[in-house]
Amino acid sequence: MATDNNLKTLPVLVTGASGYIAGWIIKYLLEQGCTVHATVRDPAKQSSVAHLLKMAQNSQGTLKLFKADLLEVGSFYEAMQGCGVVIHTASPFVLDGFIDANEALVRPAVEGTANVLNTVNDCPSVQRVVLTSSVASIYGDNKDILALPSGIFTEEHWNTSSSVNHNPYQYSKVAAEREAWKIQGQQSRWDMVAINPSMVFGPSLTSGSQSASIDTLVQMGDGRLRTGVPKLLLGVVDVREVARAHLLAAFTLSAKGRYILSATELSMLEIAKILRAKYGSFYPFPRMEAPTFIVWAFGPLMGPITREFIRRNVGIPLKFDNRRSRDLGVQYRAVEETFLEHFQQIIDDGLLKKTKK
Ligand code: NAP
Repeated sequence: MATDNNLKTLPVLVTGASGYIAGWIIKYLLEQGCTVHATVRDPAKQSSVAHLLKMAQNSQGTLKLFKADLLEVGSFYEAMQGCGVVIHTASPFVLDGFIDANEALVRPAVEGTANVLNTVNDCPSVQRVVLTSSVASIYGDNKDILALPSGIFTEEHWNTSSSVNHNPYQYSKVAAEREAWKIQGQQSRWDMVAINPSMVFGPSLTSGSQSASIDTLVQMGDGRLRTGVPKLLLGVVDVREVARAHLLAAFTLSAKGRYILSATELSMLEIAKILRAKYGSFYPFPRMEAPTFIVWAFGPLMGPITREFIRRNVGIPLKFDNRRSRDLGVQYRAVEETFLEHFQQIIDDGLLKKTKK
């Protein structure tokens, strides 16, 4: 597909630059010689920015750090000056450990997106926004698929089953994406492309991220799931494909609308099997799927898994149509590579100690 090299000559703004996915986006932008305006909440925090500064030193591109907070109106204005493309990745991605889901997730996602896009309206150089959305704004629970005659989620579908009380992270993503399309639709100067990844895995360039992607793999190896995993299917995708998709969305003239990014669907047990084949002597990976009645009884004690979540997800099929992303130019690698490289990196980062089985 044709790319607009003119957009590559202008600085690119990346929000949430310290994040897991943003790290790879910035790496690829710098490798292409772009100037990246990267926003973080605290540019003095070494664990947020050290890997980015190092990356920039060894690349053809230029990195400039800016301070901005989703909930501080106008705080993205300075960073956005002169930018042709805005890649908006910043959004809290936590699944538990909060008291008020609205404050922890929904308000920063929705008000933050409005804050960034209202600033785009004030910056005439911006021609395109790439929004990091999620399949969470396509569906809320696996059960939603049972209502589809086709049995497969596509970019036409929207999550209508999540709320602030049930799957609040998913709700934060669909509410933020809807807000984004609303703001984009009120003008015609800039266009927008949404990237909707399923669960992202693969090596991280930062050990400072709080992304739930990383904690999910840590849990697989630290024994918390030793007694069994729920019979639960997930869409999975490599972080490097997600990052490449953001660049394709930014610079491909004909890119338009939403793009599901998902390599395939795997059960939690299949993920454990991939890891056990290489690392099984040292880590207590789950070996079986817990019977539904056990998950039902103990699920709510295992973390964010509520009875309602179990009823609407466990044992139910899941399928995503990734044809639009492949047409855009995304090439999906084998998922074994994704999981093994990610797990090795978690070990190397010291996030997991070797234990006997
Ligand atoms: P991450 O590592 O936790 O990155 C999220 C970033 O958001 C953080 O770096 C954080 O920046 C920033 N952020 C959070 N609250 C903020 C606030 N109030 N103001 C400014 N920045 C704020 O998570 P990730 O996995 O890379 O996620 C990035 C995006 O991808 C999110 O929009 C997420 O919903 C989406 N996504 C992720 C997955 C996945 O499986 N990982 C799947 C689909 C979609 P600071 O360091 O500055 O606090």
